[in-house]
Amino acid sequence: MTVTLPPFEEVAVFHGHVCPGLAFGYRASEYAIECLKTARSEDEEMVAIVENDACMIDAIQYITGCTAGKGNLIFRDHGKPVYTFILRNREKAVRIAQRSAFSLDDLFPETVDIRTRMSAGTATAADGARMQELRAAMIEKILSAPLDEIYECKEIKPELPERARIFRSVPCAVCGEPVSEQRARVQDGNIVCIPCFDEYTRGW
Ligand SMILES: [Zn+2]
Ligand SMILES: [Zn+2]
Repeated sequence: MTVTLPPFEEVAVFHGHVCPGLAFGYRASEYAIECLKTARSEDEEMVAIVENDACMIDAIQYITGCTAGKGNLIFRDHGKPVYTFILRNREKAVRIAQRSAFSLDDLFPETVDIRTRMSAGTATAADGARMQELRAAMIEKILSAPLDEIYECKEIKPELPERARIFRSVPCAVCGEPVSEQRARVQDGNIVCIPCFDEYTRGW
């Protein structure tokens, strides 16, 4: 099966700007599709587990069809550029992890100096212009590097998360707004939503 990816520019329209993160997400999606040989997930066929919530995720949602709204994009807040893609029906999964050797700071050391000047408030207009050029070069590098130079892609044993379920909503006793049963809390015998719930804590 040949799968055509949407052009990067189209993904940038969805995301709102062009950035290195989006390029990273584009390549991770490309790798997943190549390894799993699957078209965009129209329903829940493919599940993505992402370990950060940065720009990359928008490319993954747009290209793979694994989206937060459909419940086939699962976010684990690990702050890591690691993406696991699972095919439900064929029980196949890959873990795609960015290699530490593919570091933009190492590839473009000039950006480190400019960023230092920017945070110290000593950057010049020339620095700003140069940074724009360097960002464009970074994006170009990410989009053109061989996939296995950027990411390590390993086939892993698929561990399927439960399908997205639909829960009943109940009105919150404090604000009156509907809250999904599975996220509701009980306070003084009443059902309340999380924002209305007074967290009980002993200070640790
Ligand atoms: Zn971005
Ligand atoms: Zn409430």
